[in-house]
Amino acid sequence: MPALVSGLPAGLVAALAGFLGLLVGSFLNVVIYRLPKIMERQWALECAEMSGTASPATEPFNLMVPRSRCSSCGHVIAWYENIPLLSYLFLKGQCSVCGTKFGLRYPLVELTTGALFFFCAWRWGLSWTALAWSGFSAALVALALIDWDTTLLPDDITLPLLWAGLIVAVLGWNPMASLNNALWGAVAGYLSLWLVYWGFKLVTGKEGMGYGDFKLFAALGAWFGWSALVPIILMASVIGALVGIAMKFSSGLREGGVVPFGPFLAGAGLTAMLFGPQAILRFIGL
Ligand SMILES: [Zn+2]
Repeated sequence: MPALVSGLPAGLVAALAGFLGLLVGSFLNVVIYRLPKIMERQWALECAEMSGTASPATEPFNLMVPRSRCSSCGHVIAWYENIPLLSYLFLKGQCSVCGTKFGLRYPLVELTTGALFFFCAWRWGLSWTALAWSGFSAALVALALIDWDTTLLPDDITLPLLWAGLIVAVLGWNPMASLNNALWGAVAGYLSLWLVYWGFKLVTGKEGMGYGDFKLFAALGAWFGWSALVPIILMASVIGALVGIAMKFSSGLREGGVVPFGPFLAGAGLTAMLFGPQAILRFIGL
């Protein structure tokens, strides 16, 4: 496996990667919150252009601008209030001005991303492989939460993730899938869910999932190879169904009763990375 730098102790490398993961997780919190809003603004702009009406006023709004604010009082979050985990602990999870709670999700996203980066560096050392799988983890964390919040899986993440899987395979950085395996994984991932989608639509007249799910499953095929698709889809379906039923009984279903599939695909993808795709079959007793 090609190493970036050799000779550093494995524990130190993993700890540094974990720290980097905390920072990336902090950025993912911004992506998860803002990317759907950026997409909505883009759609509104395109609609206005097509209908020839004046385009809606556009203050700059992207992943960098404007600075993060408290959603309750508008207090601009200072840099020292935005340090992963530490600021949350010091501020006891609330706005320093108005005391509104920030929610446990922010530190949990940071912690999860940190743990995933730590795992990648621990498993693959300071290597391109670890870097690639760290990027994969970050993309899946963002996709899972954006889909959960909005039932959208942005092309801006799914498509680069798919391409990255193929490129990583070409470069030989991925011990999980050869190029051949990755290519057919991407094809089979997309086509299988596309067929399920149209089959379901013809029989029931409803849409069971979205095109984003095909693209995400294609990306997982590119990263794990075609042979991992069955374990991944089984795990995502079983857990998705259980959560859906649990939400129905606890009346936690949102309007329209939609349970997005993306978070479960992403969860199964991360499980496959941590334990290997075949271990999933053992978990669900096959
Ligand atoms: Zn506030």
